[in-house]
Amino acid sequence: MQVIRRFMNNPLRNFNYLIGCEETRQAIALDPLDGEQMLQLAAEYGYDIKLIVNTHEHHDHIEGNPVVKAATGAPVWAHQSAMGKIPQQARGLVAGDWVELGTIRLQVLYTPGHTPGHLCLLAPASQYDPVPILFSGDTLFNAAAGNCRNGGNVDEMYDTFVSQLMPLPDETILYPGHDYMKTNLAFALNREPANRMAEYWTDQVQALEPDDMPVMTLGQERQYNPFLRLHEVRIREQLLQDFPQLGQADRDVFRALRQLRDQW
Ligand SMILES: [Zn+2]
Repeated sequence: MQVIRRFMNNPLRNFNYLIGCEETRQAIALDPLDGEQMLQLAAEYGYDIKLIVNTHEHHDHIEGNPVVKAATGAPVWAHQSAMGKIPQQARGLVAGDWVELGTIRLQVLYTPGHTPGHLCLLAPASQYDPVPILFSGDTLFNAAAGNCRNGGNVDEMYDTFVSQLMPLPDETILYPGHDYMKTNLAFALNREPANRMAEYWTDQVQALEPDDMPVMTLGQERQYNPFLRLHEVRIREQLLQDFPQLGQADRDVFRALRQLRDQW
């Protein structure tokens, strides 16, 4: 499986992905924003797009669908709850479904929180890929969690994190839907000023262009992403300054972090 990540250079800083089977030269277009660019990308790397998958219904994750579909005939798949919200959606995926193309096998995770119709795709380790790969859309970002402001629900996001994302193994490679890494690292450092890894990665990415941003693992994310560090005493102590009534539950910490990130 070849993953080609492309920064879209738009104000929302989307990443588009072309996921290709190197044996059949067939590919999945994930969250195409600019259809023409997605088609060019496929041509450049010698792939035929056979399938379009959207992680969720927001416009910046589906806008390129019509152009890609018109040129390739590829059907549009997304989560069942997005049916009626995404034009031309042909199949409603549910948790546990497999998206298969050539040697590509992606398991559907139902991950509401950013929107009610959000899914992630997980490629388990296989003979083709030695480590799992997670396409997280707008749930888990480098150094943060997605927002819940446009149709989302922070409690559902917390549940998604705890039940589905946090249990994934450290070696899992993370491919998020946007490049917010620099901003998120600044927020992470603000929440946990003594975090050496947040500091280290801030230095590492400072001069990088979005297309060159590092691809991180969940193990690395756990070292600096405050939304994966809910037990960290220093994060909790500092939150008490903004939320003196903050409860002890992880959910309370998650909600408080998300609220502060909204204002960041
Ligand atoms: Zn979104």
